[in-house]
Amino acid sequence: MSEAFPTVGLLGGGQLGRMLIEAANRLNIKVNVLDTGASPSKLIAAHGGHIDGKFTDRASIQKLAASSDVLTVEIEHVDTHVLEEVARDGHKVEPSWQTIRTIQDKFLQKQTLVKADVAVAKYEELQKGTEEELSAIGDRLGYPLMLKSKTQAYDGKGNHPVYSAADVPSAISTLKDRPLYAEQWADFSMELAVMVVKTKDQVLSYPTVETVHEDSICKLVYAPARNVSSRINAAAQDLARRAVACFTGKGVFGVEMFLLRDGRTLLINEIAPRPHNSGHYTIEACRMSQYEAHLRAVCDLPVAADALRMREPAVMLNILGGADPHSHLRIQRAALALPGASIHMYAKGDARPGRKMGHVTLTRDTVAAAEAALQPLLDLVAAVRA
Ligand code: ATP
Ligand code: MG
Ligand code: MG
Repeated sequence: MSEAFPTVGLLGGGQLGRMLIEAANRLNIKVNVLDTGASPSKLIAAHGGHIDGKFTDRASIQKLAASSDVLTVEIEHVDTHVLEEVARDGHKVEPSWQTIRTIQDKFLQKQTLVKADVAVAKYEELQKGTEEELSAIGDRLGYPLMLKSKTQAYDGKGNHPVYSAADVPSAISTLKDRPLYAEQWADFSMELAVMVVKTKDQVLSYPTVETVHEDSICKLVYAPARNVSSRINAAAQDLARRAVACFTGKGVFGVEMFLLRDGRTLLINEIAPRPHNSGHYTIEACRMSQYEAHLRAVCDLPVAADALRMREPAVMLNILGGADPHSHLRIQRAALALPGASIHMYAKGDARPGRKMGHVTLTRDTVAAAEAALQPLLDLVAAVRA
């Protein structure tokens, strides 16, 4: 066996890849990035191994496979047919192309979870995508419901709430031409998330955190989740690990859940086959970050369960683009004035409203203390948004 560490080929060059490469750089593990242009991930790894192309382009994926020892993703919207081909040719793909193919289609993902007896909201497929069909589904599932695109969804782009039968036409016209399914509304008191690490022989998990979304975009993460009983916490951990155990291959998975208002029912919302926004906090708050855990898992390097433990509670705030093209810079400047705030900016270039431009994490002895320390920034974010 060669003593050399594997070279990783990464499909996608966004902020998740950028933070993965930060971890890889410390271990002197080379990551070749496939994406177009000077993407955020490429900008922090100065070597000639990056590929300029789309992560859906056959020739580019083949070239990445030829120059890397293991392929992985920082986005699930890749061409899994090409991944299947390169896997057949003997290249390692982690997690497996089957896992990425299933998860990139939310409807297939739901069917897989249901088969494994993992709780999800009731849902129905739209075969024709017509108003009549959605109305009939509304009669069966009840209102409100969430109309969702099966594929290419992120940051709520692909979802449309349907509060009553009157919203059916606008929902269909907004999401027309996309493959659709409808989901019963989850009447949740809180959204929870667990990062799960799948290694060659273990399914491990990070602590249960609370996510707060605004306009369907993750805004805040509280780690650990506030006011969650030890029973719910254990149930969330168990559900997340069971859900990820349905999928083959190695790596980190982000598991999003709803805790319903009854205070005891947990439903899986969706799973991501990669590091996740709700796991950014692990960089400062845990012994090992989700990025290093992903890298180690896909490279078959040791991941100890103990390494996923929290060192200190944390609050994470996403820095989003606003209506004013410079508002994220004002937020960055204000974050620089907060004692002990860890600031991560993604080098994405121009801001657009809702675009994830960076994030800030504050750790303290308690979540409440971290939140109190973050308050000036929360006030600024509210003022910028108004
Ligand atoms: P991302 O991948 O960025 O997390 P997405 O575009 O895949 O987002 P979802 O996770 O499906 O979108 O939904 C975004 C948010 O919308 C959820 O976090 C939740 O706040 C709300 N939401 C989604 N589905 C439902 C539902 N069935 N009932 C109630 N709220 C929902
Ligand atoms: Mg999603
Ligand atoms: Mg989501």
